[in-house]
Amino acid sequence: MSDTAHIITLPGDGIGPEIMDAAKRLMTELGGIEWADHDIGGVAIDNHGTALPHETLDAAKRSDAVLLAAVGGPKWDSTNPDDPRPEQGLLGIRKGLDLFANLRPVKPVPALYGSSPLREDRIAGTDLLVIRELTGGIYFGEKKRENGVATDICSYSESEIERIARVAFKSARRKVTSVDKANVLETSRLWREVATRVHDTEFPDVAFEHLLVDNAAMQLVAAPSTFDVILTENMFGDILSDEAAMITGSIGMLPSASLGGDGPGLFEPVHGSAPDIAGTGKANPMAMFLSTAMMLRHGLNREQDAARVESAVDAVLAGGLRTADLGGDAGTAEVVDAVLAAL
Ligand code: NAD
Repeated sequence: MSDTAHIITLPGDGIGPEIMDAAKRLMTELGGIEWADHDIGGVAIDNHGTALPHETLDAAKRSDAVLLAAVGGPKWDSTNPDDPRPEQGLLGIRKGLDLFANLRPVKPVPALYGSSPLREDRIAGTDLLVIRELTGGIYFGEKKRENGVATDICSYSESEIERIARVAFKSARRKVTSVDKANVLETSRLWREVATRVHDTEFPDVAFEHLLVDNAAMQLVAAPSTFDVILTENMFGDILSDEAAMITGSIGMLPSASLGGDGPGLFEPVHGSAPDIAGTGKANPMAMFLSTAMMLRHGLNREQDAARVESAVDAVLAGGLRTADLGGDAGTAEVVDAVLAAL
């Protein structure tokens, strides 16, 4: 893309603004990207009374891409179902932009094999992609609390399953593993049926298997390198992708992309706002950098720059510089300087 891209930046809460500053330094270095900050999450609740102000969603819809850091924190924790919650900003913008596919690559860098809680021989060669359905399922179903009983409805339509299954089969290099709980849940039985139909009619040459979610949770730590694409629904994907994150050694390493139809995509680290280390200058900026790389690749059509950023991150890690979450003692600023130098 030779024209200047216009993105919106959503720093959010906790370490969010610190790692977004890192991404802005990176984008300045790369050039060709203009950004405008908007509120989302807790900071938006404080400033506007809602986690997703209209202005933020409108600006997002008009942008070329959306880069988000993280939202949430103890300040906005409440068990009162009527209080606004920071996560409503995330769910709302995903829904508002119709971002139904969440892509989370998990490819541990050899230099970090030692930071993983799993043995090197288990994780070596792992290169998998979790594709999580993002706008359906139990997170979006009706929620009720009446007479001391709480209910969350989980529902999926055939068309919702078809479109996410297609993303998975198109992304497969070796095989697709569809994860569900078909022995218990009706939504999972429909999921299995529709995913199988999409496979058999449209992608019969892609290797395809089903796995129950409890078994998938075990296999992810027992033999992560046997997976290629993991296709799953919203809540299972939320949990499994955090589990997969630990294979890389730290949740501070994992980027994600959320894509939909024709509109802008949303690019964000998998981790949250890390309130325990906010303001200490210790946040690992790598997941934010790798999310910026995914934005360059999937959102702005700048593959070469995406690869440059990924190589710079790899080079810095190979050189031994680590933040505390990876067992080192480098601060955010030191890591940012090193990545920009390696670029
Ligand atoms: P978290 O990901 O914020 O933190 C989990 C642990 O990982 C913490 O010890 C934290 O210090 C560490 N960590 C996370 N990112 C790091 C980084 N970049 N560098 C170094 N260490 C890092 O998850 P949590 O503690 O369960 O949640 C904290 C808040 O974040 C909650 O309010 C939660 O709702 C919110 N949250 C937001 C998102 C999001 O914005 N996408 C995702 C998950 C959780």
